[in-house]
Amino acid sequence: MMEYCMECGTKLKDRFLKNEGMIPFCEKCNAYRFPVFSAAVSMEVLNPDRDKVLLIKQYGRDRYILVAGYINKGENAEHTVAREVMEEIGLHVDEIHFEKSEYFPPSNTLMLNFSCVADSEDLSGVSEEEVDSCRWFSFEEAEEAIAQGSLAARFLKKFLDKREEPRSRDNESRHCPAGQERE
Ligand SMILES: [Zn+2]
Repeated sequence: MMEYCMECGTKLKDRFLKNEGMIPFCEKCNAYRFPVFSAAVSMEVLNPDRDKVLLIKQYGRDRYILVAGYINKGENAEHTVAREVMEEIGLHVDEIHFEKSEYFPPSNTLMLNFSCVADSEDLSGVSEEEVDSCRWFSFEEAEEAIAQGSLAARFLKKFLDKREEPRSRDNESRHCPAGQERE
């Protein structure tokens, strides 16, 4: 909870706000100060055949994670997804779907996870400044390769679990990419 007003630095006092409860209030600004946090997106970027997912290494760390980035003020999250994939990987994406969100305490960030489909597997446009390395993984490989115990790993697992469910219920009508093994 915030102790001081982010605009003027005055110590905040809790005040009752209808439908919200006790909220920190700045008497100088005459304003309630709701909790402040960042918002970011991370995404399962799929290849056009939808049978591989892109993982990247970043910030000099030897671990695979999902493509991610902060949402700019005034920007909608879907736009951030497309912008970040273009900036970091050099690919256009569409079929942008929200998957899951989770608050990430270390960076005080609400992470919104999306899936999207790239228009190509071409990785020649990857930003050398922002990405150390990246490659396409089959879903099985990706679950093994992704940084274990990370938020990215939880998002990926949830995404893959969701894909499994409808397919087992309704096999015949689901899109099944060529070459995919079925039991
Ligand atoms: Zn104030």
